[in-house]
Amino acid sequence: MIHIDEEKIFSTINEKKPRSVALDGPDGLLKKIQNCAHKLTEKFSIPVYVIGDTSWGSCDLNIHAAEILGVDILFNIGHTIAMEKFGDKVIMIDAFDDIDFGPIAKKSAIELKKRNFSKISLVTNSQYLHSVQKVKEIFETLGYEVVIGRGKGHLNDGQVFGCEFYPAFDNKDQIDAYFFLGQSMFHSASLAIVTQKPTFMLDPYFNEYSEINDVAQKLERKAILSVYKAQDAKTIGIIIGLKEGQFANIKALELKKMLEKEGKKILLIAMTEITDERLLSFQDIDAFIQVACPRIGTDNHFHKPVLSAPQAISLIKLLKGEPLDEFLQIKHWL
Ligand code: SF4
Repeated sequence: MIHIDEEKIFSTINEKKPRSVALDGPDGLLKKIQNCAHKLTEKFSIPVYVIGDTSWGSCDLNIHAAEILGVDILFNIGHTIAMEKFGDKVIMIDAFDDIDFGPIAKKSAIELKKRNFSKISLVTNSQYLHSVQKVKEIFETLGYEVVIGRGKGHLNDGQVFGCEFYPAFDNKDQIDAYFFLGQSMFHSASLAIVTQKPTFMLDPYFNEYSEINDVAQKLERKAILSVYKAQDAKTIGIIIGLKEGQFANIKALELKKMLEKEGKKILLIAMTEITDERLLSFQDIDAFIQVACPRIGTDNHFHKPVLSAPQAISLIKLLKGEPLDEFLQIKHWL
């Protein structure tokens, strides 16, 4: 079960006495966020707004919405990062899942003995960070050497985002296999692409583990194919995402300059939610580059190629007649 650190929300309101507050978080937590809003309304008799727009990560906090609403505090729930605050308005609130990883950790550690991995690394996302130490001890008891990679920037030790992998990438030459704690193909597949090592997803709900390198390969091939498809585009739309933490106008302008040099006609587009439906309105554009979230093109269906920034750099190399390098084997897909 997921627990929101409501105590921190209550104590912050008691201490700071805001005139109104807003709550937001990932879609999976919206029900709990609504319950929390009811409790706050009852106790404090101040306006409490639930922001119904998406909040995919700490890159997507909806600060703009909080400003329009005029709230004093925005509590962003469920995106635990190494920072507790953003500016003077946003307070990050933890949400942890108390599911027990013990059974699946023991099962995978015993059954994978035959693979002879001696040094492994544990990685997870924000909801399960508190389980890492316990799983480490289980693997160690069963004879593995376990490394928890150092956090950097927004990332805690052992934590990855869908586009940022420092704790896994920095030690990959010494690691035989990665174990991702949690039921997230989104995170574990990218972990496998970046490290190119055997990568297992430990699912504590079904008490199952799976090696996800085949899925990762498909994702990687899809990303490479989009680059090749974009080669023939005459007109390319470069999309600047309007979410605060994803805004990368300078990168967009740099790519525009480089692609114009290679003979491409460029249209700069700004939008908040980048979906196939929205892009179908741009009929004269042959391919898109979006500099917002690098996972938009790889993890969603689009009728035309939609490249991320690393894919765009690879496209430029192709256009110059240079070979494609391993553009996804990097620490940060930006
Ligand atoms: S993968 Fe996308 S949503 Fe997740 S942290 Fe990166 S930019 Fe944000």
